[in-house]
Amino acid sequence: MSSLAVTDRADVFRKALDDARGAGLSVGLVPTMGALHRGHESLIRRSASECGLTAVTVFVNPLQFGPGEDLETYPRHLDADLVLADAAGAGVAFTPAEAEMYPDGAPATTVTVSGLSEGLEGASRPGHLTGVATVVATLFALAGPCRAYFGEKDFQQLAVVRRLVADLSFPVEVVGCPTVREPDGLACSSRNLRLSPEERAAAPVLHAALEDAAAAIRSGGRDADRLRRLMRDRVSSEPLARLDYAEVVDPVTLAPVASVAGDVRLVVAVWIGSSRLIDNRGVAA
Ligand code: AMP
Repeated sequence: MSSLAVTDRADVFRKALDDARGAGLSVGLVPTMGALHRGHESLIRRSASECGLTAVTVFVNPLQFGPGEDLETYPRHLDADLVLADAAGAGVAFTPAEAEMYPDGAPATTVTVSGLSEGLEGASRPGHLTGVATVVATLFALAGPCRAYFGEKDFQQLAVVRRLVADLSFPVEVVGCPTVREPDGLACSSRNLRLSPEERAAAPVLHAALEDAAAAIRSGGRDADRLRRLMRDRVSSEPLARLDYAEVVDPVTLAPVASVAGDVRLVVAVWIGSSRLIDNRGVAA
């Protein structure tokens, strides 16, 4: 029998979490844009194993989409999402309409984490990370003290959220969770649903590019430009793929590095047809 309480009202969501804490439960928060898959499921399961009450939010946040991006075509499967969230152990689902989150239209107050938001996704998608930071800050303000679970799949987003919490003193402990992949290495993503069969067959090239660079580092490669070239070459070997960026960055500052010393993060963004996919992995020299 389902124990999931579903609400599209911010006041009901806030009260459910306040009541849980009042009853002595810790709260876990899993913010999502829906079309839930095994990646989201792993976050919900982790939260449910560590927290007394897990709240999943499903909101396709228009602030984080630029003009001409895929806001209208972003997959929406709310009924299936609620089944998955329930089965994975969530106790509350918050599924607000746009007017509930932004009653006066686009908010006058936005949150920008400068520096961390400027390269990579920030360079390719101006305003995207401000949209993310703003909705996450709004959700944190509604949720109150909690542990919040985010995937490493969106590595820059995770870094931005950690910094947001530190700078604005939200009573939130951010938990980063490993990327869940398909058997062929493709990172699970809601956007994978929109790939044609040919595009789906091409999409593991992101993971392959990361693995090429990781293997080169393991065998002693230290020159970051050579690693970038390796990733670029692998992406251009796939006719359906078009590179946006392939970078080697410091895992904390996200600044590009010149050579590999200690931990680095390999990050790629690639167009496969009309879908833009991202992936990353950590490597230690
Ligand atoms: P989204 O619905 O794409 O906004 O993602 C919601 C949360 O799920 C974010 O914290 C993502 O980083 C995380 N997530 C998305 N895909 C994956 C994945 N393949 N593995 C782990 N976490 C993921």
